[in-house]
Amino acid sequence: MKKILLSAIVFVIVAFGCVVALNPDSFENEPPHIDVADEVFWNFKDSLQITLSDESGIQNYQVYMVLGSESRLVESTNPQNNPKHVIIEIPAPKNTMFLSDGGVEIQITATDSSYFGFGNTAKKTIRTMLDTQKPYIDILAHSYKIVRGGSAFVVFQALDDNLSAITLEGGRWQFKPVYFADGGYYAALVAWDVRDDDFNARVIVEDKAGNRSVMPVPFYRVKREYKASTIKIGNDFINGKITSLISEINQVSPESLASPADKFNYINKTIRDKNIEIINLVGQNYNQAMILPTDFALSKFYPLRNGAAVGRFGDHRYFSYENNIIGESYHLGIDFASVKQAPVILSNGGVVAFAGFNGIYGNMVIIDHGLGLMSLYAHLSRIDVQEGQRLESGAQIGNTGLTGLVLGDHLHFATLVQGIESNPTEWLDSKWINDNLFKIIKDAKVLIESHSR
Ligand SMILES: [Zn+2]
Repeated sequence: MKKILLSAIVFVIVAFGCVVALNPDSFENEPPHIDVADEVFWNFKDSLQITLSDESGIQNYQVYMVLGSESRLVESTNPQNNPKHVIIEIPAPKNTMFLSDGGVEIQITATDSSYFGFGNTAKKTIRTMLDTQKPYIDILAHSYKIVRGGSAFVVFQALDDNLSAITLEGGRWQFKPVYFADGGYYAALVAWDVRDDDFNARVIVEDKAGNRSVMPVPFYRVKREYKASTIKIGNDFINGKITSLISEINQVSPESLASPADKFNYINKTIRDKNIEIINLVGQNYNQAMILPTDFALSKFYPLRNGAAVGRFGDHRYFSYENNIIGESYHLGIDFASVKQAPVILSNGGVVAFAGFNGIYGNMVIIDHGLGLMSLYAHLSRIDVQEGQRLESGAQIGNTGLTGLVLGDHLHFATLVQGIESNPTEWLDSKWINDNLFKIIKDAKVLIESHSR
């Protein structure tokens, strides 16, 4: 009898050990994590989201809503298969008549599946604050027009007691506004991506309770057409520049790309897309605190002394190989050429946001001028600056060259608005800069002063 009892005890211990070894989470001591702030703003329209997480899995949970003296069960569930994460959507109370500004209390209880289902239990009480007020938006001043491929500027006011996000949407891109003045005034440059036929700009303001307001910026839109052309690609180009660039980038062997068209497309599509993505990212991470729009200074850009423009912005190029169109590209800058290895001197100061090799752009430098505006210099033979360096106008950043996807020594110059390559022609023109930036800043300041009087 003793033997049987002993065997039974040993069996239980071994079985227990096996369960623990197979699933160590089944005996954890950690109660579920209830992911929600202690105080939440709620518009009582959208459902309120709460996430539960637990390593051994959520076994069951209950949600109570406390309205005055009444405590009502709004949800009680035993989810199947004990999931590690559960998202609870608490519907807004239907009758909000009796809700005070204080909102309601919500009690959440969640039990995990640890200890054969006995579980660890977590409890949390949160306070929800009623906020049904939509944010207020007013467009103060803006560029009269925006041309496809070009830039524009807008100053607006956004007000809300519980503001959470302010975005300027421009076509498929989102632009982060900067502080303009006290009283909820913001400003942003925006660009119409030359690759897009259509464009709409809207200010979108959201608050912590989920209320959202949208206001269109009434730019007059000019749908400019850019030149389209077909360029013949020959074997000389593919075996020469393309093949040497594949080796230089050194991510695949030229032999692994089967056909000449594959080689061309690897550089013209795969690498080009990656390179543009890097530029977009650098531009999106502009220094928002660098300079106030009201202190912003800028002269027209003069990218290359005595340089002649040899390539225009916006050219839509199709590439044909043996009478088949094998790819395309947009030229997202202006090409300037002068003497070989000509010095590249800044006409506007700023901080070096990028200095290094970037595939088809070769050796490239990007300068952050503030306000979301950056200038880009590509195909350099040498780079004389480092990332993070602050430079004054007149500083030499390097020399023109042949690096990247080029045939002759030249400078590829681009202007970025929060990472989007926009038509530099506008930024080479003092009158355009004055009409679209400084005049708007001045108009907005006058309006703000009259508001505060
Ligand atoms: Zn170029």
